Amino acid sequence: MLASSLSNALSEIRRKIGKEKVLTEPEDLYAYSLDASTEHKTPPSAVVRAYSEDDVRVVLEVANKRKVPVVPRGSGTSLTGASVPAVPNSILLDLSPMNGIEVCIEDGYVMAEAGATVLQVDQECRKYGFFFPPDPASSRIATIGGALAENAGGLRGAKFGVMKNWVLAMEVIVPGGKKIRIGEPVYKWRWGPDLLSLFIGSEGTLGVITRAWLKIHPLPEKVVRVLGLFDRIENAGKAISEIRRRGYVPMILELLDRETIEIVREVLGYDVPLGEAMVIADIDGPEEAVWRIVKEVRKAMEESGGETTASDDPEEMEQLYLARQGAYAAVTRAYPGVLLEDITVPLSKLMIALRELDKLRKEYGLRMPIFGHAGDGNLHPNICFDPEDPEQVRKAREMFLKTGKLAIELGGAISGEHGIGISKKDLFLEEIKAVRGEGYIELVTQIKELLDPNGIMNPGKLWF
Ligand SMILES: Cc1cc2nc3c(=O)[nH]c(=O)nc-3n(C[C@H](O)[C@H](O)[C@H](O)COP(=O)(O)OP(=O)(O)OC[C@H]3O[C@@H](n4cnc5c(N)ncnc54)[C@H](O)[C@@H]3O)c2cc1C
Repeated sequence: MLASSLSNALSEIRRKIGKEKVLTEPEDLYAYSLDASTEHKTPPSAVVRAYSEDDVRVVLEVANKRKVPVVPRGSGTSLTGASVPAVPNSILLDLSPMNGIEVCIEDGYVMAEAGATVLQVDQECRKYGFFFPPDPASSRIATIGGALAENAGGLRGAKFGVMKNWVLAMEVIVPGGKKIRIGEPVYKWRWGPDLLSLFIGSEGTLGVITRAWLKIHPLPEKVVRVLGLFDRIENAGKAISEIRRRGYVPMILELLDRETIEIVREVLGYDVPLGEAMVIADIDGPEEAVWRIVKEVRKAMEESGGETTASDDPEEMEQLYLARQGAYAAVTRAYPGVLLEDITVPLSKLMIALRELDKLRKEYGLRMPIFGHAGDGNLHPNICFDPEDPEQVRKAREMFLKTGKLAIELGGAISGEHGIGISKKDLFLEEIKAVRGEGYIELVTQIKELLDPNGIMNPGKLWF
């Protein structure tokens, strides 16, 4: 792509939507040159701040005509380089100014523009006694558009799934500037292939999501938190399987290993109980049922060798959650370099995965605290290293690759939440080759070429 095409595109965009929405000063671009992965640093050549659907339409029309790459961006919390340009002369399209929210209780949905944050959407629903279940840990800043484009999940995924489970309809602008409305804001509709699923999780490589109609859920009447402490990680794994096998689906079901608990204690000074593993479960439901289920969940943990505590007192619940809440902050504060893995394995393979990961950390001698959403098999091994030490950098990268390969071998997925972006491109190709069949790449490449014939949407991501 020629710099002259970019310059002509920017002149046309300025003329059509106003020059104040187009940023090209280095100090403005710097803020957009990173995402939360921090390892991919490419400043865009320009940033367009979209305030309306029309702004998005103009950018995709002009960029498509002049073959200029466009990187959609919400809040830039991607952990894989997905929201920074992978190629030069790109326009970064910032959707954060488009942040309207409308709750419709009667029809059971919330309409959110792409730039509204996940937390803002949840908080609006709570005013009416409802909530929005998907809760990425980044929900305070992550946007609805970014969360849809990444098919994000979170703690409550153990019970409520991920973003795609909550979408009724979306509006998308495709290259060339045409608007597509997919789905309807009703709880049942059926026609044709499911195009919602095509765009959800496509990481900004097919089009720009401008708004979505999302299902909402009544707030639980009661939530009780249970903490189980285990002297062997295998027993924590057994407890998790037992809870599920006995038919209980906690709203959150989290696992922390000893290294995580130690780092939280060392770095943040939190007084959290030390054990080989900790399991935290939130049980929700009607008042009369919750305590009965809590008793059963505690029994499953205790029969698996754990010591348990439970509380419905808000302050005590916070205390029980302290180790999990501080985990990522403690790790990133302790180590300047952290590769945050995000694999998912079948629940039956959770313990094998933890054992293999333990072997890996012993083999490489790097610290790797592991926590995660064990209720849905999603683990976050945090590979800690010194970025100034080339040997440690090499080891960390090898561990990252081996962790992904382990997930593939165990019949799982290389990413449960954080997506592919740039960081996991190679691993993604391995996963495709291993399990998705020969025709997969061909089919998806044809879909990409159909929707984005000039290849302007977020090039260099996924395998495009
Ligand atoms: C501390 C921390 C905790 C996290 N915890 C979780 C977690 O629990 N679960 C989880 O799933 N993720 C988590 N993440 C990853 C990340 O926050 C999520 O993927 C989030 O949904 C990204 O939202 P964003 O607005 O920041 O998107 P961005 O980073 O701006 O963009 C992400 C991707 O979406 C595309 N995109 C953005 N907006 C649009 C749009 N409107 N239309 C089309 N494409 C678009 C971008 O091009 C990019 O490919 C975490 C990140 C951090 C830093």
